Amino acid sequence: MLLALESSCDETAAAICTAEGDILASSVASQIEIHRKFGGVVPEVASRNHILHVRPLVEQVLAEAQVKLGDIQAFAATSGPGLVSSLLIGTSMAKALAVAESKPFLAVNHMEGHLLSPFMAGNGPPRRSVALIVSGGHTMLIHMTGVGEYRLLGRTRDDAAGEAFDKIAKMIGLPYPGGPEIDKMAAKGRADAHSFPRSFMDGESLEFSFSGLKTAVLYELPKLDLKSESSLADVCASVQEAICEVLVEKLVLAAKRCREKLVTVSGGVSCNRGLRAKLTARCAKEGLTLLLARPDLSTDNAAMIAYAAAQRFQLGHTSPLEADVDPNLPLVA
Ligand code: ATP
Ligand code: FE
Ligand code: MG
Repeated sequence: MLLALESSCDETAAAICTAEGDILASSVASQIEIHRKFGGVVPEVASRNHILHVRPLVEQVLAEAQVKLGDIQAFAATSGPGLVSSLLIGTSMAKALAVAESKPFLAVNHMEGHLLSPFMAGNGPPRRSVALIVSGGHTMLIHMTGVGEYRLLGRTRDDAAGEAFDKIAKMIGLPYPGGPEIDKMAAKGRADAHSFPRSFMDGESLEFSFSGLKTAVLYELPKLDLKSESSLADVCASVQEAICEVLVEKLVLAAKRCREKLVTVSGGVSCNRGLRAKLTARCAKEGLTLLLARPDLSTDNAAMIAYAAAQRFQLGHTSPLEADVDPNLPLVA
């Protein structure tokens, strides 16, 4: 059994899984309400709240899984990428537990957690596939041939997809985090109301860019009546369509290029209902098998970190107690 902690940004989370990666307990303490009044995450506020939450969470998952600390074989924590002051809380706690219990410590890459999350909840083991990771800070296409065997196919040159959702939502007056808000409003709007730009859609590039979309919405703002719910819904539906179309097309292109039939999608943006519907329809048409991370495993959580740690632990990996945190830890060297 492994116990994992996640504290890379503003969610404090703990989880326990078996050596095979079955989740026995998982709990997330969200700080969304605390950061909402600032319109985004304030690093020092986040780290102070991690300190308050982390120990109760460890006790909570131990109780929920009905296991004793002594039964845990290894302690894991996210070591990057993320906010340094946040990462230090989870890693310090996991290391302290490892020292106290004389058990190994594992430093986990947060993006590997997202990458492997579609294989959780009975969809495992992780295997050959093309992955789209769409989160708050990343938009990446990865060719995966096994655990730890990842090749970067393309990434965003500027904003991540989640960042585009969040920044555009802020511009049109929706609360933080904007992704789920745009998702909700988009359901009531017309996706063809505005024609927003789609970048690098030449049928060849696997790179992304969302800053042009953000600028296009900014220029459109003076013409919009955002007090009208239907006009706000139309903007949301059109923005969501522009983002999702690019994501779906590039994932399909990447799968063809790598000659893979299995595609996976993970990260917070994969919760988006418009994206899920588009992916499901398009993959069926292309004869691709689609594995979507379960929504509660898509946004930040420790279950995915425990799962990634279990996969690594099975391969014999552990990390030294001196292992540092890295705000820019790359998934692919
Ligand atoms: P990273 O993993 O890159 O470090 P992160 O951990 O902040 O970033 P996640 O927690 O995976 O990112 O995802 C959060 C992002 O997902 C936010 O940008 C949020 O707006 C977006 N998101 C969540 N739900 C939805 C949704 N239904 N539609 C669109 N975006 C969404
Ligand atoms: Fe994340
Ligand atoms: Mg987050």
